[in-house]
Amino acid sequence: MSIARDKYDLIVVGSGPAGLSGAFFCAARGRKVLLLEKEKRFGGKLPISGGARCNVTNILSADEQAHAFGRKSRFLLPALKNFPPEMTRDFFKAHGVPIEVTDGFHCFPESGRAMDLVDALCTACHEQFVQCLSGVKVQKLLLEDNKICGVNCGKENFYAENVLLACGGKSYSKWSGSDSGYELARQAGHTVTPLFPAMTGLQCTEEWVGSCAGISFENAECFIDLPGEKTHCRGELLFTHNGISAFAVLDMAGYVAELLMKHQNVPLRINLFADIPKEEWLKRFASWRQTRGKVTAGKIMNEYLPKKMIPYLVPQAETPFARYPAEAAKQLLENLAALKLHAGNTENWHKAMVTKGGVALAEVNAKTMESRLISGLYFAGELLDIDGPCGGYNIQWALSSGALCGQKCK
Ligand SMILES: Cc1cc2nc3c(=O)[nH]c(=O)nc-3n(C[C@H](O)[C@H](O)[C@H](O)COP(=O)(O)OP(=O)(O)OC[C@H]3O[C@@H](n4cnc5c(N)ncnc54)[C@H](O)[C@@H]3O)c2cc1C
Repeated sequence: MSIARDKYDLIVVGSGPAGLSGAFFCAARGRKVLLLEKEKRFGGKLPISGGARCNVTNILSADEQAHAFGRKSRFLLPALKNFPPEMTRDFFKAHGVPIEVTDGFHCFPESGRAMDLVDALCTACHEQFVQCLSGVKVQKLLLEDNKICGVNCGKENFYAENVLLACGGKSYSKWSGSDSGYELARQAGHTVTPLFPAMTGLQCTEEWVGSCAGISFENAECFIDLPGEKTHCRGELLFTHNGISAFAVLDMAGYVAELLMKHQNVPLRINLFADIPKEEWLKRFASWRQTRGKVTAGKIMNEYLPKKMIPYLVPQAETPFARYPAEAAKQLLENLAALKLHAGNTENWHKAMVTKGGVALAEVNAKTMESRLISGLYFAGELLDIDGPCGGYNIQWALSSGALCGQKCK
């Protein structure tokens, strides 16, 4: 087959946002690029991102976005500064997919269709003559004297000066997530840090939680209740058949998974009404004793909590509020503002949206995305030991790191 004998300037492994961006920016320099995708469809996890609407980025600057990744921010800066969030918006607009800021922060395609972003990236690649093959899985890297010279896809080898691994993470295995990229990185001698499912729900050890499945709180705050621990998340909280999910826990799930290596379960403290301070509840309790003394605690609390939750959260629910014992009021306050739950597990790889951990950053040059071990081998996107919070950070990182490699590879 003639395609296999050609030598490419760059072979990109994976067609998610990182791979498509890398392929486009390299081909735009007049280089010969081949993109290989193991699935039948292109786009990696882009088509399913953000509920198929895709929160592609946000309004923050490169510095502010990098800051959101905590102590790894220094590694992200060169890529984010080189292709910052405003360039993402400009790029898609120039390719026929205007981006809108929906709530003053998050950015989505105006059409509301993640697939439009995939189509725009694929069209941009085709216009720059990137050769794209789907249904082709890279199985091995071809290496010679610590230099990359191509990839093996089973029966066929493809040769290139440079190879970009943009294989994504292990998460969401029901779509395209797999171990494949980590195996290739290990074959090249790279360290892969421990992998944990991140951006996912938590399973709780308290069985009662399951009877409240489907109930949600608009503005809750979840804290990890371990000594010295400051991690917390705020937003919607959803009770599921076996635990809790939604924005109040998604950003801490990866860390909880890591803690579960050391602890049998992770104690959590949840403020179900983050906008009502404890003092305000105490004032309301005092006022109800005076003004609604004959109404039972359960009936009053039903104005705040769904009926299904009353037996679990309101002690002595049948007692009229005038006679509500101080001990019960104390417990009620704790259940509302500091509800104790225990995470015994996270949801599995099937449901995790992001992978925490990956190719060790110390072995990759942040200014080019090139391996420090193998000349001509590059990395981009979620395959690296980087995971951002909810809010468009992960796709921006994938696009920016792919762009940096595409522009800087030899
Ligand atoms: C349900 C869901 C919703 C999400 N929503 C958002 C959101 O709104 N905003 C946001 O910022 N992030 C979101 N994310 C995270 C985001 O989708 C990923 O972080 C991002 O897609 C990572 O890009 P990537 O290019 O590194 O990898 P991916 O998008 O995972 O693409 C990697 C590609 O490489 C291919 N591949 C792997 N190994 C091989 C191989 N050996 N040979 C050939 N091909 C290979 C895979 O099949 C895949 O197509 C979401 C994730 C999920 C699962």
